[in-house]
Amino acid sequence: APKRIPKKSHRIDPHLLSKNAVKVTHTLQQAGYEAFIVGGAVRDLALGISPKDFDVATNATPEQVQKLFRKARLIGRRFQIVHVTFFGKGHPEIIEVSTFRALLENAGDHVAESGRILSDNVWGSQGEDANRRDFSINAMYYDPQTETILDYHGGMADMQKKTLRMIGDPAKRYREDPIRMLRAIRFAAKTGFTLDPQTGAPIAKLGKLLHDVPAARLFDEILKLLMSGYAWAAIQGLRNAGLHHGLLPLLDTILDQTTDSKEANEFVRLALSNTDHRIQSGKTVSAGFLFATLLWPDLLKNWKKNIANGVSVIPALHDAMDETIATQSSGMTIQRRFESDMREIWSMQPRFEKRVGRYPYRLIESPRFRAAYDFLLLRCASGEKNASLGQWWTDFIAADPAGQEALMAAVK
Ligand code: ATP
Ligand code: MG
Repeated sequence: APKRIPKKSHRIDPHLLSKNAVKVTHTLQQAGYEAFIVGGAVRDLALGISPKDFDVATNATPEQVQKLFRKARLIGRRFQIVHVTFFGKGHPEIIEVSTFRALLENAGDHVAESGRILSDNVWGSQGEDANRRDFSINAMYYDPQTETILDYHGGMADMQKKTLRMIGDPAKRYREDPIRMLRAIRFAAKTGFTLDPQTGAPIAKLGKLLHDVPAARLFDEILKLLMSGYAWAAIQGLRNAGLHHGLLPLLDTILDQTTDSKEANEFVRLALSNTDHRIQSGKTVSAGFLFATLLWPDLLKNWKKNIANGVSVIPALHDAMDETIATQSSGMTIQRRFESDMREIWSMQPRFEKRVGRYPYRLIESPRFRAAYDFLLLRCASGEKNASLGQWWTDFIAADPAGQEALMAAVK
């Protein structure tokens, strides 16, 4: 039986709740069903963090859920959930509603491979729903009406001990779904919690199972890790767990840089902490920009090599871009839309050197100027470029026409 945790023991701040998520649970309960806020949202609320999205779990079937809401769509075939959309000021909010069940969506393929019979949408009890979840702190159910948490696996106690603990036998759970190893590292970085020893122990040995995970899912998880707001800590965590090698060429590149050159290491560290700060303060980060920074040291190496081989500067850069991107796609393919962003940011870099005539005016008018300029500032901060170049552009953007002329005159 779950532990019932009353308001005075969890101290969830109702102001951090999404009104829409509360509305969804309320509507379901009024119709006679059970409904709770669940998963990462409850974890974040109990930590006092504002959750980025809200999931609801219920004993109503997807069809029953759909009938209760005006804007409700059934999503997914093998693992049906309902997206209930609310329009208000700003962005529409989607509340994801799933029915209690015993099997996990994403682990499905893996479970099937290892010989278990897989049925797609078999509903389960709330207890079974809790058992299929990954960590104890991710298996708590919150009822906003009674302000009570149902805690099936001692999540609250783990929270107080600042421990991340896998539900069930960790090795078995990682074999079912190797992505859980990456989730362990990501949540540990995000919460600052330590991995329970038994949860951490199997990772070194089982890390290679990540090679069997479909590339697209691996990419999504790595992207989540990099965009978590705690990327720098998470990357250290990957290295400490011995998870990085051969996982993704991109990660090899990042992590090997630390031994390579001080400057490159500094660049990546700056880029990641920059990203972390932006995300923690609610700003957006473009994945293209992030990948452009992570691959920059590798690109720079190729660029210099090509120049040393006698290729002139600009063609040498373009060849280097092809080379850097080619090594990456042997493991994970960076999606096209990110790739073109990266190329744009990179190919604009030499243009910052040309501070005469019409060049600077044309550059600041290009649609990707802001990203390319931010990128230049990182290069300056890491010591790769002289800080005065970045400063010159900062001044140029802020100056009036006469000031801009004066700045250009001062360059010559
Ligand atoms: P965040 O959204 O902040 O990344 P989260 O915990 O909400 O964190 P989601 O991927 O949104 O993560 O998943 C929602 C919930 O579903 C989790 O809290 C967990 O209970 C369960 N879950 C997700 N992925 C897995 C998995 N691979 N194995 C077991 N349970 C999972
Ligand atoms: Mg979530």
